Amino acid sequence: MSFTLAIIGRPNVGKSTLFNRLVGKRLALVDDQPGVTRDLREGAARLGDLRFTVVDTAGLEDATDDSLQGRMRRLTERAVEMADICLFLIDARAGVTASDEGLADILRKRGTHVILGANKAEGRAGEAGLLDAYGLGLGEPLRLSAEHGEGMDELYHILRPLAEGFEERAEADAPATDIDVSEDGDAPDHTPSAAKPLQVAVIGRPNAGKSTLINKILGEDRLLTGPEAGITRDSISLTLDWMGTPTRIFDTAGMRKKARVVDKVEKLSVADGLRAVRFAEVVVVLLDAAIPFESQDLRIADFAETEGRAVVVAVNKWDIEEEKQDKLKELRYKFEKLLPQLRGAPMVTVSAKTGKGLDRLHDAILRAHDIWNRRVGTAKLNQWLEAMVTAHPPPAPGGKRIKLRYMTQAKIRPPGFVVMCSHPEDLPAAYTRYLVNGLREAFDMPGTPIRMFMRSQN
Ligand code: GDP
Ligand code: GDP
Repeated sequence: MSFTLAIIGRPNVGKSTLFNRLVGKRLALVDDQPGVTRDLREGAARLGDLRFTVVDTAGLEDATDDSLQGRMRRLTERAVEMADICLFLIDARAGVTASDEGLADILRKRGTHVILGANKAEGRAGEAGLLDAYGLGLGEPLRLSAEHGEGMDELYHILRPLAEGFEERAEADAPATDIDVSEDGDAPDHTPSAAKPLQVAVIGRPNAGKSTLINKILGEDRLLTGPEAGITRDSISLTLDWMGTPTRIFDTAGMRKKARVVDKVEKLSVADGLRAVRFAEVVVVLLDAAIPFESQDLRIADFAETEGRAVVVAVNKWDIEEEKQDKLKELRYKFEKLLPQLRGAPMVTVSAKTGKGLDRLHDAILRAHDIWNRRVGTAKLNQWLEAMVTAHPPPAPGGKRIKLRYMTQAKIRPPGFVVMCSHPEDLPAAYTRYLVNGLREAFDMPGTPIRMFMRSQN
């Protein structure tokens, strides 16, 4: 066994269900000494090619109400002691309860590695609880459904790099995988790995030059002679080494052209664009310099922001532009006016036809991806928050000043922050914008969508 994972959580959040899913029939009820480990179930778990021991704090259901809290705490502490990694489950449908907060305190104090899981998150019923979970200060909650097996790929991708840190890795000749952990999920993984190509979508209205751009990136010769070694192509994407960066490009133009739909091309390409956005980490919005920022471009760019993707705007056909300086001014002005939500996102001019500017496009994509993945330390954040609040205190509705107490970065991809706050419902949206814009400047995060969650703490 390479490591031990403890499933922690109050009764009824789904610990046993998850335990059973990980262990299957490989249950090994080990120690049966009364009062020692009777309440801790242990089993041999499998997830993809990972083999580990899983410990579950079962038996809590038998506790009487008044002794429950104490027992839960003792059991949890024992499980934490045994574990290398804790998977702390909450019930996303029920939201965060006082018991959850108590357990979270124990886990934070112990300083063990904690993965926060929001269980019962299938469908939409768990969304509020998922948001709530950020407020526990244990990082980004992993969306799980133990009952339906959802989130197991993500759990694998989180455990995998951690498992590598523990000695005695499972043998390489381990049996075949139980769970499909293919890399082709609908959204990027929680944990980026070096081997994984950067996922880029090139979107834009018909004739913006998407095919030309992708062909240029690929190299025209290659396209004529078919994909060469190192380039793989499926119906929707192609993977290549782009100036030293393993890159997977979602080719919406190719999709559309394959569909051979002449009518309603506009409509179809919007749908393709939206689909590609979901796949991508970085979205390149390709504009035709002659007709920039049309409603379709705006819609897709806005959708990319809503979906939390990093965005790079590329203005194409720059080779035929004569008044380049004036044009650039006009574009910058329109960009700020029409897409304020993408403030600071890079805009680069390119010619897909001649290849001019593609190196700058490449660099802008890498930088956007880097910002999208950025983490800011808690100490720095709180120093910054204090300065922001001093410079411009939040309002005091009804004479009571709203207090912003503490903040932490809860997630990346895109960066998300949780601010503990008294009466968050009274905090004006303008104040949140002040903080978001301030964050962008102070920590050099232009362009990327930034999420800011206000959580109640009086
Ligand atoms: P434990 O007390 O934490 O071990 O929780 P259990 O595993 O016994 O689950 C408590 C209840 O929640 C059971 O009725 C499960 O069927 C249900 N449950 C567990 N996981 C899920 C899930 O992912 N979705 C939903 N909707 N129900 C779940
Ligand atoms: P798509 O529909 O977005 O895939 O656009 P295409 O790649 O098919 O390009 C549409 C038209 O614009 C074609 O006639 C291209 O030759 C032309 N085009 C694309 N990029 C450029 C460019 O950078 N400069 C010029 N002058 N024409 C371009």
